Amino acid sequence: MSALEVVLVRYGELWLKGRNRIDFERTLMRNVRRALESIDPAVELEREHGLLVVRPTQRVHDVARRLQDVFGIASLAIAEAVPSERDALTVAALALLRRALDAYPRERVVRFRVSTKRSDKRFPMKSPELDRHVAEHMPSDLAGRVKVDLDEPELDLGIHVRPRTSYVFAERLSGAGGLPVGSVGCAVVLLSGGIDSPVAAWLTMKRGCEVVLLSFHSYPWVGEGFERKIERLGRALARFQPRTRLVFAPLAEIQQRVKDTAPPAYRTVLYRRMMQRIANLLAEDERAGAVVTGESLGQVASQTLENLARIEEAAELPVLRPLICFDKPETIALARRIGTFQLSIENEPDCCTVFQPERPIIRGRRSEVLAAEAGLDVEGLVAAAYAARRVLDLKA
Ligand code: ATP
Ligand code: MG
Repeated sequence: MSALEVVLVRYGELWLKGRNRIDFERTLMRNVRRALESIDPAVELEREHGLLVVRPTQRVHDVARRLQDVFGIASLAIAEAVPSERDALTVAALALLRRALDAYPRERVVRFRVSTKRSDKRFPMKSPELDRHVAEHMPSDLAGRVKVDLDEPELDLGIHVRPRTSYVFAERLSGAGGLPVGSVGCAVVLLSGGIDSPVAAWLTMKRGCEVVLLSFHSYPWVGEGFERKIERLGRALARFQPRTRLVFAPLAEIQQRVKDTAPPAYRTVLYRRMMQRIANLLAEDERAGAVVTGESLGQVASQTLENLARIEEAAELPVLRPLICFDKPETIALARRIGTFQLSIENEPDCCTVFQPERPIIRGRRSEVLAAEAGLDVEGLVAAAYAARRVLDLKA
């Protein structure tokens, strides 16, 4: 690795102004530092108007790949720092071109362009002039291997001209987009062992919300395998935010009471209402501003508009449902991409399989749901389940 190799981090969200912009950048830098803690603790970060320059002390590609999972980053480039001076930039750009061409067979003519961007307007050449200057100073052996193609280059040699130090690069990586986790507050995510809720958690983090994971188990009816599965899912999600807490709360007692006192068809909706109430308590302690679920319209009986309304009536905060209009294949595609799919399809029974009614109510009416719930000591059961919670701090 060349001593001067850096990762250029570009963040989008250009509408951010003043104070918001400073907070956004601070949060992003904190998250970048955290993400790199285990692979490059000595990394240096520097903010250079609208750009974050990451100077790794370890393998630059490992660092760049790790940063692809940090929200708030639009794109990344692996770049070389070069003094902001015409000849130095030309030499560096051509040396980089030579190395980049190594990736192609010798006899191939590679479509290529130079893309200069100038954020230092005092630099004596305009961007297209520097583009041309570099192309015209190619040694003949290189010139024979490339053909300029401004529209569809295979190899796009970037030059970012800045005050004092500029950057040349050929390798770009996509960022995860979104906003830095923590810049938009915190939410409680109801995490089941299914495919959907981990994806809902990821989407919530993507929009800048830190998530606290809450999972209900039905021990002793459902074994410890379920909790281990949830822990694995939690660790997979922990990769996307600086710190992750996973909270387990018992649901078995509540399920038993519901079974004893409510008509079977209402069980699922009543369980979901109880989950919301326990989530309310956690949200209060965590100062969370919303509760997130993996529910999707019409996917199962408990996800009709009527039943979603009944579930929401037990909530005190906004209930966010990032997947509400996703088709299952769309959710599965995302689950694969973020690495939770294989974990989710491991076959472990979860609490919802306990006392599942054969014919759940499809359009639960408010009066009927309230009547079905009337035999329960709602407050006592919720408080007891919350008091029995177990909290884990997860590492990615
Ligand atoms: P998932 O794939 O996330 O399980 P699903 O489509 O299977 O979702 P349900 O099983 O009906 O739907 O669950 C709906 C939502 O309720 C889940 O997405 C999750 O947010 C929440 N939920 C269900 N079971 C649990 C649980 N055991 N612990 C925490 N949350 C749960
Ligand atoms: Mg499920």
